[in-house]
Amino acid sequence: MDDLSGIASDISERFRKIGAKSGVYYSLHEPTFSDIEKDLVVNCIETTFVSTFGEFVGQFEDKISKFVGAKFGIAVVNGTNALQVALRCSGIKANDEVIIPSLTFIATANAIAYLGAVPNFVDVDDYTLGIDPEKLETYLRKIGEVRDNQLYNKNTKNRISAIVPVHIFGHPVRYNEIRDVALKFNLKIVEDAAEALGSKYHNRFCGTLGDIGVFSFNGNKIITSGGGGMIVTNDESLADRCRHLVNTAKKKNKYEFIHDEIGYNYRLPNLNAALGLGQAQSLPAKLKLKRKLAGEYSQAFSDAEYGSMVKQPEYCESNYWLNTLFLKEARPVHEICDKLNDFGIMARPIWQPLHFSKPYSKCPKDDLSKTIHLYSRLISLPSSPQIIENV
Ligand SMILES: *Cc1c(COP(=O)(O)O)cnc(C)c1O
Repeated sequence: MDDLSGIASDISERFRKIGAKSGVYYSLHEPTFSDIEKDLVVNCIETTFVSTFGEFVGQFEDKISKFVGAKFGIAVVNGTNALQVALRCSGIKANDEVIIPSLTFIATANAIAYLGAVPNFVDVDDYTLGIDPEKLETYLRKIGEVRDNQLYNKNTKNRISAIVPVHIFGHPVRYNEIRDVALKFNLKIVEDAAEALGSKYHNRFCGTLGDIGVFSFNGNKIITSGGGGMIVTNDESLADRCRHLVNTAKKKNKYEFIHDEIGYNYRLPNLNAALGLGQAQSLPAKLKLKRKLAGEYSQAFSDAEYGSMVKQPEYCESNYWLNTLFLKEARPVHEICDKLNDFGIMARPIWQPLHFSKPYSKCPKDDLSKTIHLYSRLISLPSSPQIIENV
């Protein structure tokens, strides 16, 4: 089967074994809401505390941090800002370089750029779709030089201060190997677990694998607070500093507004927290269904000759945020997606690699051949849990 229409209609036929309702347009990932969310949001409005103050923010923070087994959670307005604050509190400064994959959503790079720091792109592996630890180490040995226990880029002269591993589509990266490289070069790790709420690596939840991690509650993620994000950590002083910064760096004081540095107004509004708190109640059920859906996908595409579904890495439990078809050969994936759309199935290629993106085209980078290889081979398919059951 070589022509694109043939592949697109075969994908569509296989998909219909899973999402069989006629006349329904299947989106990539849609939220669902129940009376629980509606009651909480109405309750929040009735308290009149819809903004900076209110009870729901703390409750939402507790719920999520307990779920993933972190001591502290700091809720903020979105995942991008969560990353920005987590990076700043980890000591990342202007002109530092931060190692990230090129194959990620642009938020990972933007959070770095907001601090005046610079992304340095590394390649991924096709097993996890995340940073390739061996290639990372070789690259750092090649470009790096250590002075005063700090790593510097010999070419740009900038300090390299951190790595941001991203769990793409919810599939955990090879964290231990990446952590070992970070330890060798004295680099901080900030985990971008925006897509990986509920995913596990060796029985530990993503987001809590290192000192600090972040989640996103955007509308297309597993659960949503409308917009929102959360920083999680077990380190109390790190948590205090994050909380201070997202609350405009305001010192505890009776009346006067005293701020001891330039902070941010990034705290999650109470209204969004009420919605998120309601959503969090259905998180276990959603995760269970998403794993079931992934099983159905894997079955439906098991004998497809042009590709197979991306599977969770060994020792991991992925949340399968997006179910993704991995094509054996490079294809015009955008055209296949267009055709699937005509069949009522929303499909998306992976993001344009960030080193091709205008604002980041001049950033330092390693050889990115695997990234480019994957760019023309991955197609994400509808992945809402309610495709198979209502939640
Ligand atoms: C969604 C996402 C973010 C940021 O989340 P927002 O809440 O949309 O700001 C960051 N990184 C990755 C990989 C994401 O998918």
